[in-house]
Amino acid sequence: MLSRTMRSAGRVWERVMIGLQNLAEVKINPVITVTETAEGVRGDEGRARFLGLIRSFGFTKPRLKVLPLFRIGAEEKRTHAYEDWERIRADELSEADAEMLQCSSCRMVTSKGVYVCPILIETPEARMGETLAETLRPFPLRYGACHTCWAEGVSCRT
Ligand code: SF4
Repeated sequence: MLSRTMRSAGRVWERVMIGLQNLAEVKINPVITVTETAEGVRGDEGRARFLGLIRSFGFTKPRLKVLPLFRIGAEEKRTHAYEDWERIRADELSEADAEMLQCSSCRMVTSKGVYVCPILIETPEARMGETLAETLRPFPLRYGACHTCWAEGVSCRT
């Protein structure tokens, strides 16, 4: 018998599949972003399987971005939380590195306020203000997720 979590994941997967089908039908070709929750997804074989799945909906030029796993939220319980050492040290982040980070050039606007980025949306300290103008200031990159962004080269520019 399937657990409630697995049934819920199954429903989400079905809805994503329907969404892809709908996009393909109206000839919108999005960059489909997936997260590496199982080993090998970012490897050649994993990518080939995903690209095959995307093509099966009728996308002739499939676009796929595979993100590393951020161990936050439910993922923190599924695997494990960030270790203390998984933080960006002050001497590690070059100016060029910092410019590549998503938070260096955008913010996440939500009905609950403006957050530094979509990754830290569940982190109360990441809410920088009510308006975009209030958030045009530096943000301390002291979270485990920030280490993943830096160490894995996560960027909206690549
Ligand atoms: S997780 Fe940290 S480094 Fe990554 S985009 Fe958000 S604030 Fe920037």
